Formats: sequence, C-alpha cells, structure tokens
Amino acid sequence: MNIGGLQKVSLIDYPGEICAVIFTRGCDFRCGYCYNAELVLPERYAELIPEQEVLAFLRGRRGRLDAVTITGGEPTWQADLPGFIRKVKELGFLVKLDTNGVNPEMLKEIIDRKRVDYIAMDIKAPLEKYRDVININIDTRRIAASIALIMGSGVPCEFRTTVVKSQLDEQDILAIGKLIKGARRYVLQKFLPDKVLDASFLDRTTYEEDYLRRLCGMLKNDVGECAVR
Ligand code: SF4
Repeated sequence: MNIGGLQKVSLIDYPGEICAVIFTRGCDFRCGYCYNAELVLPERYAELIPEQEVLAFLRGRRGRLDAVTITGGEPTWQADLPGFIRKVKELGFLVKLDTNGVNPEMLKEIIDRKRVDYIAMDIKAPLEKYRDVININIDTRRIAASIALIMGSGVPCEFRTTVVKSQLDEQDILAIGKLIKGARRYVLQKFLPDKVLDASFLDRTTYEEDYLRRLCGMLKNDVGECAVR
C-alpha cells in the first residue's frame, strides 16, 4: 500500500465512530478544489509511511478507536487494498472506504469479499459534466457502474458532492439526484477555498447554507436523506 498520510484520530470521518484516517497516495483525477495535492501530484508527493508502521499504530489503538477510514488520493488503485483491509479488520476495526468511483472492478472485489463496513463515493457532477470537474477524460460508464455496485451491495453508504458555485448549478444537483436515485444518503459538501490543487480556486465560492438546504429539500423524492456539511 502506498500510504501518504495518517491522521491518528478523527470524530468526523466515520459516521458515529471514532476513527483513524489512512490516506493513500496517487489519484488520476485532477479536481481543482482538491485539498490533498501531496497525495495527487507526483511532484508534490508526501513521503510514504510503511504499512507495517500504520498497522503497528492501529494495533496499539485497539479499544480506543472503533474504526478506520481509508481515503486518498484514490484508494482503489492500490492493488493490495483488499489484503490491507483484511489486516485492518483482523485487528477489530470497522473499515470505511472513500472512493471517487473510478475503479468498479476493485470495488466489486471488495464488496464481493465483504471487506468493508461503509462506503462513501464522491459524485463530481452529472456524468456529462465530469470532464469539466476532474480535468481528465474518463469513461463515465465506470462511474455509473460504481454507483450501481454500491447501491446494490447492501453495504451502508453515502454519496457526496463538493459544491463549487462556478461548477455546479441547481439543475446539476437535481441531475445528480436522479443519477443516484434510491440512495440512502447524499451529502452536499461546502467547498472551502483553503488548500487547493488549482490556485484559481482560491477565488471561488460555494452557495449559502440556506440555499444548499433548499436544494436538499428538492431531492427528497430521489434520496432517503440529504445533508449539508
Ligand atoms: S478531490 Fe479526490 S478525486 Fe479529486 S483529485 Fe483530489 S483526491 Fe483525486
């Protein structure tokens, strides 16, 4: 596993549980608002943390942490992800996987082997606008396949979208609602112009909280629950 970061405790990265957060290094998307450039851009890569060191840390936290969130970068590009998750689960932790949905084959393997307890997938935009947000070309059928896999898996899950005003309007959010129709939980994440991959995003904004809440209300026929954070 290429591990580029370890947050030793978090109260917000696993719903209802105290967790550690493991950041894998490497992602092929180039979202301008990304706040993890050191996990995305090879020229800015963080030093790797040996897997054994991370597992030793977790071993020492048994009984004090409930869960581990594996995020990125994009974790599903790590070929040994299923084996790593197994090792973490053998230590007694719940495991949440964050993904951008680019690798449905790996997601299927993890779901089929019943490896994870929670999956969170980013939905960057309606499929036809993906290119504009992630700044690379991908076959968006891969994204649709990941959505279908996650929704059909029975694994507790959520979808979430980082909302930058200049990128997504009301129609886009409503279109995303249709894309994930039937999802249990959807989260609109306010973009914070703090650490970004593309410096031009420092001048961009998100919508007012009230407006985002109204958007959530409009999605009530598409998703079970919609939240703003
Ligand atoms: S926001 Fe996520 S998907 Fe986008 S570049 Fe950053 S790590 Fe990759």
